[in-house]
Amino acid sequence: MLSEEENIKKYLESVIRTIPDFPKPGIQFKDITTLLSDKKALQLTTQALCDPYHNSDCDIVVGLESRGFLFGTNMSEVLNASFVPVRKPGKLPSETISESYDLEYGTDSLEIHKDAIKEGDRVIIHDDLIATGGTAFAASKLVKRLGGVVIGYSFIIELGFLKGREKLDHEIIESVLIM
Ligand code: AMP
Repeated sequence: MLSEEENIKKYLESVIRTIPDFPKPGIQFKDITTLLSDKKALQLTTQALCDPYHNSDCDIVVGLESRGFLFGTNMSEVLNASFVPVRKPGKLPSETISESYDLEYGTDSLEIHKDAIKEGDRVIIHDDLIATGGTAFAASKLVKRLGGVVIGYSFIIELGFLKGREKLDHEIIESVLIM
């Protein structure tokens, strides 16, 4: 018999849709819009993301553009923390710092407001999915440059075969589902 936790994971996995060859051939895209439109899954996902962090004394959840904003703000509310967005270049209106990271072809970069994090702030970095880990790693560099302390990472889905967690070099990496 499955435990309650295993049943929840099975349920969440069942409401995530995999779209082959999107946005390009060879990518199995994990579509969470089907999870978002299921109100039970929405609640269970927020709970599962927050469970490991209730006693973490977190000050800020940093959410990564754009799907990291969806549950990142939910997590902030539950964990009594604030929320800070990390965005693609040119989207944030005030003074920013930026970090570049490698893509399969070329590079991309991420930005954060310079005044969004203070020295010593305890930060959880959240995104919907970790693949190679490049995005989350670039976000961690932004947080650290502003003096923040990364207490952990949080993902709904981890593509385990891509070994993104090895890039993060951190003890606390919590993924609800490893697929
Ligand atoms: P990475 O930097 O390789 O860890 O890629 C993570 C980012 O790309 C996240 O913001 C994800 O939303 C997105 N991403 C990468 N691969 C997928 C996938 N197979 N399905 C959905 N989103 C993906």
